[in-house]
Amino acid sequence: MDYKAKKQYGQNFLRDRHVLGKIIEAAALSTDDKVLEIGPGLGALTDLMLPRAGLVRVMEVDSELVERLQGRSAANLVIHQGDALRLPWKELLLEPPYKLVANLPYNISSQVLFKILEHRPLFSRLVLMFQKEVGDRLCAPPGGKDYGILSVHCQLWFEIRRVTIVPPGAFVPVPKVDSVVLAFTPLATPRAVVADEPFFRRVVKGAFGQRRKTLRNALLGAGFVESELRAALDVAGIDGGRRAETLNIQEFAALSTALAGSDKGER
Ligand code: SAM
Repeated sequence: MDYKAKKQYGQNFLRDRHVLGKIIEAAALSTDDKVLEIGPGLGALTDLMLPRAGLVRVMEVDSELVERLQGRSAANLVIHQGDALRLPWKELLLEPPYKLVANLPYNISSQVLFKILEHRPLFSRLVLMFQKEVGDRLCAPPGGKDYGILSVHCQLWFEIRRVTIVPPGAFVPVPKVDSVVLAFTPLATPRAVVADEPFFRRVVKGAFGQRRKTLRNALLGAGFVESELRAALDVAGIDGGRRAETLNIQEFAALSTALAGSDKGER
């Protein structure tokens, strides 16, 4: 490879044809589809998507890689140079929906996920590569140590399927960890009714803020008022002595709704 990968941009280029094929298969592209790829890198995935999709928009932060991508002659490739976390998705992703397909830089995968959640109406499908540990958290059911903030928010809106586990040897340079490809399909109706999303996020964040504490103590620590918290737990039928990781999504939603009803339960 006549290119020196940059660590600060999380550059591990996918070389394994089998894995590339699995990603393309999971994306199920047709020429009517518009695709967003975050971090196209040297273009291994991009080159497979260009003949299969109507339009491929890519967001790449590394100007050296952007220059290389500009050398491609595909008429349906649109390149946005910049940090995907800062680029204005609503303005750039014209005429949604898009399929988001990406081998994400691992150092920003959580932040990208939160940005995806914020912009979820723009997307009809996501096929994303994660560090395996992060993938395990996204798919985790309640009750274990893997279940957390990202599991709740992603599973609220999406059906998540594991496409394939990817060994380090599939990349150049070789990373230290296993990876996993996940496919996200938006649910026709979310798994729970969440009226006030920002408030729901605050409740979930507060609950998981101190995982070893009971739900009651974690939420008190996050600034919720004791009397209102007690009343809301009562209304939602949830024992405050439980830990956050034991609550399912519907219970988080019920607690959030009950707390919102008590004037947001905050000091
Ligand atoms: N898609 C390519 C592949 O599968 O071989 C490259 C994947 S590599 C793990 C991550 C890519 O994301 C690199 O090209 C890197 O330069 C780019 N990248 C890193 N941080 C980024 C950011 N904040 N915004 C956009 N692209 C970024």
